Amino acid sequence: MPTEIIENTSPSMLTDTFGRVHDYLRISLTDRCNLRCTYCMPSEDMQFALHSTLMTANEVFSIAEKFVKLGVKKIRLTGGEPLVRKDAHHIIHLLSKLPVELTITTNATRTDSFLDDFKKAGIRSVNVSLDTFSKEKFLSITRRNDFDKVWQNIHQLLAHNFHVKLNVVVMEGVNDDELLDFVSFTQHQSIHIRFIEFMPFPGNNWNIQKVYSYIEMLEKLKQNFDIEKLIDAKHSTAKKYKVKGYAGTFAFINTVTLPFCGDCNRLRLTADGKMKNCLFSKGEIDLLSAYRNGEDLDALIFQSLAQKQKQTGGQNFDWPTENRSMIAIGG
Ligand code: SAM
Ligand code: SF4
Repeated sequence: MPTEIIENTSPSMLTDTFGRVHDYLRISLTDRCNLRCTYCMPSEDMQFALHSTLMTANEVFSIAEKFVKLGVKKIRLTGGEPLVRKDAHHIIHLLSKLPVELTITTNATRTDSFLDDFKKAGIRSVNVSLDTFSKEKFLSITRRNDFDKVWQNIHQLLAHNFHVKLNVVVMEGVNDDELLDFVSFTQHQSIHIRFIEFMPFPGNNWNIQKVYSYIEMLEKLKQNFDIEKLIDAKHSTAKKYKVKGYAGTFAFINTVTLPFCGDCNRLRLTADGKMKNCLFSKGEIDLLSAYRNGEDLDALIFQSLAQKQKQTGGQNFDWPTENRSMIAIGG
C-alpha cells in the first residue's frame, strides 16, 4: 500500500532521441475481455496470459509510481477490458494516490458498478468504445449481445456529468454508413465522437481496402453538415471538429493514412508488465520481471525510450504486422 502522495512538479525526464517529451502512460490491466471485437482480437488462437504473469494491483501501483517520478503526468487504464479485473476497484483507488490525471478506456459494459470509484479517484473523463447504433451490428462486431447495457451505461455516465468520448472504429462496408448518425448524436448530447481508422494487428484480418480514411469521412460529413474546425489540444491524436450549434464534437484519429507520431508523448505498459515505447513497436522491455528481481527500473525505462522509432514503431503497416494483437497490448 502506498503511504504518501509523491510530488510531481518537475519536468519529465522521459525524452527520446527525437526530443519528444513523454508524460503520458497507458497501462493495460488485463488482456481479457467480456467482448470479442473482430478488429481487436485475433479470430483464432487467442491465448490469454496466465494470472501469475500479470502485474498484481500493488505492482501496477509501484511500476506506475516509477514512471510518475520520472515525469508521467497522465495515466490511462485500458486493456483488454480494464473493468473485468476483479481488483479493478482496488487498482483505481491505489492509482488515485498518484499526482496524475487518471483516465480510462472501457467498453462500458460494467461502468454502472464503478461510478463511485471513478468519482472518488478523480476520473472525470471516460473513453467508451461503441462502433454502431444497431443492436444486430453490435452483436456481429463484438460477438456479444450487450448493446442495451452499453447504451444504458453511456447515458448513465453522461447523466453523472462525466466527459464521455465515444471511440468508433470505422470499417469500410461494416459501419461507414453510420457516420452521419454518430455526428447527429452530438446535436443534443455533449458527447465527443472519435472516428478511428481501422489499424492492422496480427489476426484481425486487416487490409487497406477495409480502412475508411479520414479524408473520405471528412468529405462525407462536409456534404451533410455545417462543420467548423476546433483547436486541437497539445499532443492530441485527434483532429477535432464540430457541427455549428451542436452540443458535442467529433474528431478523427488518422493513424493509418496520416500518422501523428511527430508529437508523441505516450508510453505503454502491458498487463504482463512489458514496456512498449509505441503501440506498433516490435520490441518490449520486461519491467515486471526486473521489478520482481529487485532491479532498478529507471535504466530499463530509459533504454526502452532510447529505442523509440520516429514513426509507427518503425513499421510500415505491411502485412503481417510484427506485433502483439491490440487486446494483448492494451489500446
Ligand atoms: N476494452 C476497452 C475498449 O474497448 O474501449 C479498452 C481496450 S480497447 C483495445 C481500446 C481501444 O482500441 C478501443 O477504443 C478500440 O476501439 C480500439 N481498437 C482496438 N482495435 C483496433 C483497431 N484494429 N483499429 C483501431 N482501433 C482499435
Ligand atoms: Fe474488448 Fe475493447 Fe478489444 Fe472490444 S476493443 S475486444 S471491448 S478490448
